[in-house]
Amino acid sequence: MKSKYINFKNTKNYEELKAAADAIKQGKLVLFPTETVYGIGANALDKEAVKKIYTAKGRASDNPLIAHISNIEMLEQLAIEIGEVEKKLIKNFWPGPLTIIFKKTPIVPDIITGGLDTVAIRMPSNEIAHKLIEYSNCPIAAPSANISGKPSGTQIEDIIEELDGKVEYIIDTGKVDIGVESTVIRVVNNTVHILRPGKITPEDIEKLGISVHIEKQILRRIQRRGKSNVSRNKIQALCSNNKKHFSIL
Ligand code: AMP
Ligand code: MG
Repeated sequence: MKSKYINFKNTKNYEELKAAADAIKQGKLVLFPTETVYGIGANALDKEAVKKIYTAKGRASDNPLIAHISNIEMLEQLAIEIGEVEKKLIKNFWPGPLTIIFKKTPIVPDIITGGLDTVAIRMPSNEIAHKLIEYSNCPIAAPSANISGKPSGTQIEDIIEELDGKVEYIIDTGKVDIGVESTVIRVVNNTVHILRPGKITPEDIEKLGISVHIEKQILRRIQRRGKSNVSRNKIQALCSNNKKHFSIL
């Protein structure tokens, strides 16, 4: 089977996007752009559909997925205990490349969360991603579009060989804007814990007056990538706080 290809590079035919949304509603997979990287999406509330993502990517079933939403009602459908710090982060960084971990509601299938009682949620700012979620009328679970272990796809040319035929639709808008994954965080005792470094930096969060904690191994990744301006001293100071909280993540 070849995937159906929608070329959104020059034209914006929203009827075709609606057809892709219908595929999501029918439990099929759609490869679509976000502002960070391309994603392989499925209806986040349909466990059979989500299973297909793991198969397509060869992803370990205990590696949880991010649920992508387009409005706050969807957040309330998926998450409980949305605290003041989370609200501040949402106000400042959504829609955008920040993924926040929340306690999940019972409707979130275990397959997305790898059996955890938490769920990762993000509201993308990319217009096509936003419209695809709106037309599908459900949150879309989507990991980066790549075979596990390979770099995340930032343009269709780099991933089409691996993924053609594994998804119903491929939506091509050209190279994505950011090209770096979303930052994944969890708030514990009013402190933001960085679980995966990404486009939003620790400094971006600290500017809001929120304290940030980074595990050493994550810090090394940030430094290796050279994507952050955090100084070495600052990093060591951030590392020394609140170690105990990581036991619950
Ligand atoms: P990807 O799907 O490739 O963008 O990766 C998603 C990232 O979010 C992975 O690093 C996951 O481990 C992380 N993640 C997703 N859900 C959770 C969760 N409930 N708790 C902690 N990390 C999560
Ligand atoms: Mg990935």
